[in-house]
Amino acid sequence: MEPYAEPMWDAIVIGAGPAGATAARRLSDAGASTLILEKQPLPRYKACGGGVPARTLELLDGLDISPVSEGYVETIDVSRFGRHQFRKTSERPLAWMVMRDRFDQFLTELAVESGANLRDATPVQSIAEQDGCYEVETPTGSVGARHLLAADGATGPTARWLNIASAPTRSAAYEVEVAAPSAALEHWHGAANVDVGYRPWGYGWVFPKAGKLSVGVVTSPGRGRSIRKQTDRYLSRLGLADADVLKVQGHPIRYRRSSGEPVASERALLLGDAAGLADEFTAEGIAYAVHSANLAAEAVLTSDNPASAYTQSVNRQIQPELDAARTISRLYYWCVTTWPWLALKTSKHVNYLWRAFFRVMRGDSTYADELARVPVILSPPAPRGEMSRSDRGGPPAAD
Ligand SMILES: Cc1cc2nc3c(=O)[nH]c(=O)nc-3n(C[C@H](O)[C@H](O)[C@H](O)COP(=O)(O)OP(=O)(O)OC[C@H]3O[C@@H](n4cnc5c(N)ncnc54)[C@H](O)[C@@H]3O)c2cc1C
Repeated sequence: MEPYAEPMWDAIVIGAGPAGATAARRLSDAGASTLILEKQPLPRYKACGGGVPARTLELLDGLDISPVSEGYVETIDVSRFGRHQFRKTSERPLAWMVMRDRFDQFLTELAVESGANLRDATPVQSIAEQDGCYEVETPTGSVGARHLLAADGATGPTARWLNIASAPTRSAAYEVEVAAPSAALEHWHGAANVDVGYRPWGYGWVFPKAGKLSVGVVTSPGRGRSIRKQTDRYLSRLGLADADVLKVQGHPIRYRRSSGEPVASERALLLGDAAGLADEFTAEGIAYAVHSANLAAEAVLTSDNPASAYTQSVNRQIQPELDAARTISRLYYWCVTTWPWLALKTSKHVNYLWRAFFRVMRGDSTYADELARVPVILSPPAPRGEMSRSDRGGPPAAD
């Protein structure tokens, strides 16, 4: 790639989450002049459980994240509205626990060390395409680039501005950080609670962090009010109703449901949540954000047609996982809401299912491979009110 004279950059990356920071690092490592534009001053809070699936580290070339790790999870404690509780433990950690302000800043600093230029507190305000380049308007002036990597998250405006209509399906998620008493911290050390039964779809979680717990609920959109009540009730069941609340925030999660949903146009690529690369079983998106960043950087660095190269890579390497996770999600959440007692009993006693889930989280297998082993004879209908394309209710507002 021919380097451009200033102020033309080889690539502008919009957003300094896991997708943007990773893409910027990959591009800078390869010698591409790269500018990161981040709306918020860093470090910034991101509503997120902060569970980094263990498989993510491989996508980050075995990066040592211990400087920002707040713990790990190797045990899943399952309940249905606080009852029918049981625990399953993996022989190795399934996920590393982080607070996203520190984790994202850590990844962004690595990008800067690799040579990327960072401008935080710099929101992108508009984008124009001219002579095969992108002109990006910010409050401090306009900057130009040959490639645009939009990693601006589930509510970012870039996809809309570029007419890349992506991932209209979404869910609402609500996160509360609580300063839990030491007995609760001890109880959840190395363990996460997954509380099921929410209609029509969704679950509650507790993730252990250093000195606090991240508690949240994910459910269908258009439920901004009930998700708050559900989270309050969940906190009460956990005995945390009186714990100090450090932070509360809602945020949507978007899901790409088919290879036909665009993720790129010419030299503009959508990464991570901006492209809807989160799965509908666990609602996690950090691993997919990092994976898409790797694929986007590769497309920019090696292809004359980055949009096509990137789209093909996403469709081959990520979409099969999202599709398989969605099938598993439908089956699982349909069972736990339709036959809760039977579903909980089955998930308690069929260890095979847990071993399969643990393999996927650790990166020893994939949802697609695990699903292929099981003939899904039963194809459950989408439960009434399940997330759908027509379900465009807004997310709960960030507090
Ligand atoms: C409540 C909740 C809990 C979750 N828990 C988990 C979990 O435990 N594990 C997991 O794997 N996933 C989880 N997810 C999903 C995960 O948070 C996302 O998939 C992940 O953050 C996607 O990363 P990203 O880099 O694509 O986008 P983001 O992390 O959202 O980063 C986007 C960045 O773009 C910036 N930006 C936006 N607009 C502009 C603009 N105009 N100009 C410049 N910058 C802009 C934003 O400020 C932000 O910093 C959760 C999501 C929610 C909502």
